[in-house]
Amino acid sequence: MAAAATTSASTAFSSTTDCCNQVAKRVFRITGLQVASTRRPSAFKSVRTINTNACTTASRCSFSGFTKTATITASAKIIDGKSVAKEIRDEIAIEISRMKESIGVVPGLAVILVGDRKDSATYVRNKKKSCESVGIKSYEVHLAEDSSEQEVLKYISGFNDDPSVHGILVQLPLPSHMNEQNVLNAVCIEKDVDGFNPLNIGRLAMRGREPLFVPCTPKGCIELLRRYGVAIKGKRAVVIGRSNIVGMPAALLLQREDATVTIVHSRTKNPEEITREADIVISAVGQPNMVRGSWIKPGSVVIDVGINPVEDATSPRGYRLVGDVCYEEASQMASAITPVPGGVGPMTIAMLILNTLVAAKRANNFK
Ligand code: NAP
Repeated sequence: MAAAATTSASTAFSSTTDCCNQVAKRVFRITGLQVASTRRPSAFKSVRTINTNACTTASRCSFSGFTKTATITASAKIIDGKSVAKEIRDEIAIEISRMKESIGVVPGLAVILVGDRKDSATYVRNKKKSCESVGIKSYEVHLAEDSSEQEVLKYISGFNDDPSVHGILVQLPLPSHMNEQNVLNAVCIEKDVDGFNPLNIGRLAMRGREPLFVPCTPKGCIELLRRYGVAIKGKRAVVIGRSNIVGMPAALLLQREDATVTIVHSRTKNPEEITREADIVISAVGQPNMVRGSWIKPGSVVIDVGINPVEDATSPRGYRLVGDVCYEEASQMASAITPVPGGVGPMTIAMLILNTLVAAKRANNFK
């Protein structure tokens, strides 16, 4: 079915390259992967114009490589990370009450923040709020930018020994004078709810081995696919980005789910061509709107991890957040797509509190 959709798309796009302002005759039937509800052409109400100017997130977006204008009628199902994350938090809150009532234990999460980065402070505040909303006790340490690595290690050691703390998170990035590897390695593996300990990553990479924790953002991506009924087994997946915290573990997770996985990175030749082969795309690059509509195979599922601030004079903050994927273009091609914000972001926090619950259950042998 996806192959048929590919044919439609390439036919439409090739017709646009040699015929200015010609309306593409074909309506894309986005048959896609197994998303929860099947879309029908009659449901495609919006008609959007695609031109060749700079990509914006307004309805007029450009496709690099397309020289003329096409009108395309299709739009993807929105994968709503915000509501899925809420659903998961509600499930976690029930489990936490059950544990508290049965054995009198409340999960605890310690967060260490070093320095005054506003974005990091916002992330920590949001994590704390989410913890409190489900009944997790949060412990916060905020150290000055010029603190020593020894000080951070001292706090980690204290939390490692504290039985009321089940998870420890060191907010990244750390100031440049600190060795991130030393600091992350100091978190004991039973409390490594971020899943960044090399032992956890190593187990993730090995067949027949189970990590104690899986990194939260990639875990959130897979959970979104699962909850939207997207089949992964046997599908072709492309992960754009290979960072230790997102891209690489996302690729390992997809492989564990029996996808055939290709990783695209900054030195990859023909990233567009490779990405266009994918049934599932996970992008974690950090480049606003890099993945254009022309990179997306019709009917594929797109998970956009990127969170990139771009200037926006109309916003009270002077900027807004966009993903790595040009949403307006890609949503004309994909069968399902995550928005930014409201896609992967809320899932990351939901997975963090889930990992903390798992850590507390494990420490107390509570099933
Ligand atoms: P990172 O450590 O900077 O890694 C970026 C990756 O993208 C690298 O592997 C890099 O390749 C690759 N890359 C850079 N430019 C590229 C290009 N032009 N073509 C192909 N690949 C390219 O970033 P990260 O920490 O993984 O984060 C990525 C994005 O996700 C950021 O926008 C970040 O804010 C966001 N993020 C979101 C969440 C969330 O909860 N939603 C969580 C974490 C991160 P090389 O390896 O070759 O350098």
